[in-house]
Amino acid sequence: MSEPACHAIGCATPIPAGRDWCSFHWRMIPRRLQARIYHAKTAEEKQAAQAAARQAVECAEFGERLL
Ligand SMILES: [Zn+2]
Repeated sequence: MSEPACHAIGCATPIPAGRDWCSFHWRMIPRRLQARIYHAKTAEEKQAAQAAARQAVECAEFGERLL
């Protein structure tokens, strides 16, 4: 089995078990979305929150490339 890696697109940073994001990308996720991921009650809810978070991280990284 491969090491669990960060959910962000193109990020291969290994993360500890039970976590989905490296600390660098986790900080890019808005707090409200972090809460949605953390408090998700079902796998579907968590998956939806993770997908939204991935979009948010992509937008944040895109913005940084423009600086
Ligand atoms: Zn990452």
